[in-house]
Amino acid sequence: MPPQNTFRTADQALVREINLSLILKHLFVHSPLSRAALAEMTGLNKSTVSSLIQELIDRRFVREVGLVAGSVGRPSIMLELNPQAGFLLSCELGVDFISVVCTNFGAEVIWRHRESTRTHDQQAILDRVVALLRQAANEGQTRCDGCGGLLGLALGVPGLIDQSSGTLLFAPNLQWRDVPLRDILSNAFEGVPVFVDNEANMAALGETLFGAAKGYHEVLFISAGVGLGGALVRDGQLMRGTTGFAGEFGHMTMDPDGDPCNCGSRGCWETQVSQSVVFRYLQQGHSRVLDEVNDLDQLSIPLVIDAARAGDWAARAAFENVGRRLGIGIASLVNALNPDLIVFGGILSLAGEFLLPVIEKELRQRALRWNREATQITLAQYSSDACVMGGAAVICQAILADPALYGVLGRK
Ligand SMILES: [Zn+2]
Repeated sequence: MPPQNTFRTADQALVREINLSLILKHLFVHSPLSRAALAEMTGLNKSTVSSLIQELIDRRFVREVGLVAGSVGRPSIMLELNPQAGFLLSCELGVDFISVVCTNFGAEVIWRHRESTRTHDQQAILDRVVALLRQAANEGQTRCDGCGGLLGLALGVPGLIDQSSGTLLFAPNLQWRDVPLRDILSNAFEGVPVFVDNEANMAALGETLFGAAKGYHEVLFISAGVGLGGALVRDGQLMRGTTGFAGEFGHMTMDPDGDPCNCGSRGCWETQVSQSVVFRYLQQGHSRVLDEVNDLDQLSIPLVIDAARAGDWAARAAFENVGRRLGIGIASLVNALNPDLIVFGGILSLAGEFLLPVIEKELRQRALRWNREATQITLAQYSSDACVMGGAAVICQAILADPALYGVLGRK
């Protein structure tokens, strides 16, 4: 075959894949839509749209959802993404917990499990992650009645991930280095696309695709818990930086002579605003919460929130102090990045009623008016589920970008 024909065939296939992706993305944002509306929105002609839709229906990514009467002519058959296209597995490996969800393609959770990790043994923790994912896969197969197969698997971790290899390079709060996470999961789940990312990156994408930041363009995500993570999402895409490690806001130096940080530096922002700092303020203020626990390991942010609601002044002061430090850092980020929305997530966001007013006060005092007035701040919709929902978002985004790949894998 002459080379130019080979090129033409390849180009036509590529154009078709791009158009399939375009249709899926429009349906993701604007469902339900008719074929005519899709033709108008994409600029493709009606017969092309019909042919592409038929392929997506055959692959089960799209389904018809009844008739809607238009202003003129015959009623239209409406289309939407098919939640039953398959199921997705998403796991967050936290510093002291493992959380797993199984969702359908519509990001509806069909099974979930969360447990504390009682060991620091890396192999034992990884074995447990794989065992829970296998259980989630079985539950997905059983509960997602009539679903296609497993479409993808995502893992979020509190550390730096090399995106090309899926290797965890360093997780300061776990003290793990060079763990080939994607290889481990790919070996355990052969043939299934595996996505590994920083937990804050995943959470930020989850909030952008499904949650509080849906429809915003320049989203600054801040997640405070054991450490402080963050991410910037521009028009639905993570800003990863040159080597893929952007968003490590928790390691901005706020006090050059401050407390040592697990990253090896000193006075990082996360040494001023993590949950352990809240607990330290409780001790300094002799909070009544401390009388309720046998040892400090039993302290939790929800306990402190209950105490603050009941009027415990030390609990309130702890949130006031941490809120102020959060606000100082966020004001600097607002000046640097000029986002239209700040989403505050992580376990500390459960204390939003105490933290947000203080953060907003610091923003008013410290962010430039022109930046501040363009910015809203809100709590993460998924709070402690943000990362696992973000894992589902990562898989969905990959399918929307390249549905052909998943048409094959989804049938397995
Ligand atoms: Zn640090």
